[in-house]
Amino acid sequence: MRQARWVAVGLLATLAFACGVWVMGCPAGATCLTAGGAMVSAFTLAATASLVLIVLALSWPLRAMWLYRQSSIEVRRLQRMSLPSALLAAMGRTRTLNVECIEGSSPQAFCAGVLHPTVFMTPELIDRLDASQLDAVLLHERHHAERREPLRRAVLKAASDVFFFIPLLRWWAERRLEESELAADRAAIGQLGRRTVARALWHAAAREPQGLPAFGGAIEARVAQILGERLDSRPPAPSLWLTSAAGSILVVSTAVCLAHVLLAVS
Ligand SMILES: [Zn+2]
Repeated sequence: MRQARWVAVGLLATLAFACGVWVMGCPAGATCLTAGGAMVSAFTLAATASLVLIVLALSWPLRAMWLYRQSSIEVRRLQRMSLPSALLAAMGRTRTLNVECIEGSSPQAFCAGVLHPTVFMTPELIDRLDASQLDAVLLHERHHAERREPLRRAVLKAASDVFFFIPLLRWWAERRLEESELAADRAAIGQLGRRTVARALWHAAAREPQGLPAFGGAIEARVAQILGERLDSRPPAPSLWLTSAAGSILVVSTAVCLAHVLLAVS
């Protein structure tokens, strides 16, 4: 995905350059220097900016729906199993509904589903945890389910994919994801204490399935919180602001230039 983003930026920059050269070189481009041309230019700028905004605004929910569909297909493929008695007991203690046990060789727990967020756990993880640690995992995942975290993450991921030329958005999505993990841990720590949550975290796999809110995500910040360390605020680096501004200018200028070309050839 990171590679695709760089390819897109490269293509965009090439297109902007080629378009600029064409407009400067073609006789129609000279209309921009006249009074009438200036009016055309102002109109073009407004119309093109609106068009770009509309296209991006439509692409955002479409990308979110596509991501959700992919994740739904992935979840449908999971092999459900009957709920083990230890998990049923933990569901009763933590009053957690919508829990499924799935086949899997790695110790995993995650939350998936937009309309009915469900907690999924593998027997591998259930077997590794004692009763209180199992409660910790369920309380953590229940927090994600109650806040419809799968939907929020799909929407934010779609935004950072569509607006790939604004790296600041991706930075913000990652910070929000980390904060959601910390908040879910605080919900579990509030009822069971730091020690139990730390032990449960120790047993969970760190890999997140398809960007879903898994129990093993954002490890570094979560360990720091469990240890009671101060979590430093990390404002975005100046380079992020600069690249976001440069990316936005590149997209708008490319769109405006292309609009000039279309007007000139029509
Ligand atoms: Zn989580």
